[in-house]
Amino acid sequence: MTETPKLSAFRRIVVKVGSSLLVDSKAGGLKEAWLDALVDDLAVHHKRGADILVVSSGSIALGRSVLGLPKGALKLEDSQAAAAVGQIALARTWAEALGSHGITAGQILVTLWDTEERRRYLNARATIERLLDMRAAPVINENDTVATSEIRYGDNDRLAARVAAMVSADCLVLLSDVDGLYTAPPATDPKARLLPVVPRVTAEIEAMAGGAASELSRGGMRTKIEAAKIATTAGVHMAIADGRVAHPLKRIEDGGRCTWFLTPSNPVTSRKKWIAGSLEPKGVVRIDSGAAKALLSGKSLLPAGVKGIEGGFNRGDCVLIRNPDGGEIGRGLIAYDAGEAAQIMGRSSRDIEKILGYSGRAAMIHRDDMALGGE
Ligand code: GLU
Repeated sequence: MTETPKLSAFRRIVVKVGSSLLVDSKAGGLKEAWLDALVDDLAVHHKRGADILVVSSGSIALGRSVLGLPKGALKLEDSQAAAAVGQIALARTWAEALGSHGITAGQILVTLWDTEERRRYLNARATIERLLDMRAAPVINENDTVATSEIRYGDNDRLAARVAAMVSADCLVLLSDVDGLYTAPPATDPKARLLPVVPRVTAEIEAMAGGAASELSRGGMRTKIEAAKIATTAGVHMAIADGRVAHPLKRIEDGGRCTWFLTPSNPVTSRKKWIAGSLEPKGVVRIDSGAAKALLSGKSLLPAGVKGIEGGFNRGDCVLIRNPDGGEIGRGLIAYDAGEAAQIMGRSSRDIEKILGYSGRAAMIHRDDMALGGE
């Protein structure tokens, strides 16, 4: 069996805590004793010099009970209102729990755009880095009060993976009410087996993720596998572990049941990581076989090698790059709007000024703005 990583070997750890762990669904309050035990575990790693980041769910679950909202799915306005109420208590609880170990907490609320748009992403990253420099622990959640359906993650599994990639963490732990990935649904299949290590997220692994989610948490196994793809592509090892025990991190360290998703050993550079993990490419660029060869040998994508454009993207957006056979060769940040790209495709870079009326970049997607499959 492949050896499992040790938490004590990581230098920057992101821990995602699911709502069902933090919020008592019957009493409606926070499970403070459980949280204190988790923070004891975090403090061990902080003390040995590791950076600690927390992605905490629970604002909606907490707020809804304070506001007396009914059980079941909430309307968007109601979940936004619930988050507004719950987030205050959530942040205070984390600040107090971390504070009791002498660790300062800093609250960061992000939306999808803060991780998907490069300028905002750089800004959020700089703030988090500054907090970590000062040995503070960022406590992160989605900004649910302003996120509308089109622009929200909705689940903190993928959010946590994007954050882990953004800050070049080396480990992400998803704590929830499941203890790992099973070969089949354990509730219905007696032959279901927990996988202790997943060396690579294959189609077969993806097929093992059902859609199940508990009442309080949004993300089922599916969003956890999505998170594993984002994290492992970005050079981050990821574990799914049961958080329902006291001291869940210590339990992982002691060899308790969990599933580790391993990242291949050569981590890509931070810019390329961010591009490779982009959640919502805005369009497609189809290229010819000559251009595909050029890209694989490390060249930029020139307009001459582009055969087709799809989607209404803007300059700077992330687009998929497809081979003549339709396969995805990579992703990149495009230097032109869709309309302009359509005008210059198939043409020599020398003609760009004549066609568009200004001298744009020679490359449609520059080498540094591109992440190919194997990178
Ligand atoms: N951001 C949501 C909250 O804090 C949670 C999303 C999730 O459960 O994954 O309530």
